[in-house]
Amino acid sequence: MDIVKEQFIKEFNLDEYIRKVPDFPKKGILFYDITGILSSPLAFKYCIDKMAEIYKDQKIDAIAAIEARGFLFASPFAYKLGIPVIPIRKKGKLPGVTLSKKYDLEYAQAEIEVHAADVPRGKNVLLTDDLIATGGTLNAARSLLVEGGAQVPGIFGIVGLPFLNYKNLLDPTPVITLIDFHGE
Ligand code: AMP
Repeated sequence: MDIVKEQFIKEFNLDEYIRKVPDFPKKGILFYDITGILSSPLAFKYCIDKMAEIYKDQKIDAIAAIEARGFLFASPFAYKLGIPVIPIRKKGKLPGVTLSKKYDLEYAQAEIEVHAADVPRGKNVLLTDDLIATGGTLNAARSLLVEGGAQVPGIFGIVGLPFLNYKNLLDPTPVITLIDFHGE
């Protein structure tokens, strides 16, 4: 990596671009809003360049992303690396033959799907979302990819909330985030 770029990455304070919104979408939740990253071409570039830098020595054949904010970061990464994007969507959104997985939310169940034909058998798929909270969604997504015959060598999030113990669910897959928050 050249020195100018290295300095740029070291000095960049992503925290300034993430708005913290108390009681959204419901009381008691502190919502970390990444739209400030999207509205800053510099912050957005930092995130995508950093992702590319982190994974440059790993063999990543495709990137899978969780609907909807995961798509925003996975797509430019895929474009940069020239690899496919695999959308993982809420139930009922994908028209083709799907693999699907139910998982538990705090008070309910959710279901996500992937097009079976999109999952590359025997290949390395990096799994991403904008933010990793409990890791429940990514855990279910990883199961889908593995069921489809892919390997998941890493999980990436722009934001991590490690106090919600996502590692419990996501171990042993290595998880990398660009910025972590530790609760209120
Ligand atoms: P989880 O399955 O608990 O890791 O979180 C699932 C999804 O909810 C992720 O795609 C996040 O975008 C979103 N999410 C969960 N908690 C928050 C939060 N505090 N702020 C912003 N997004 C969140």
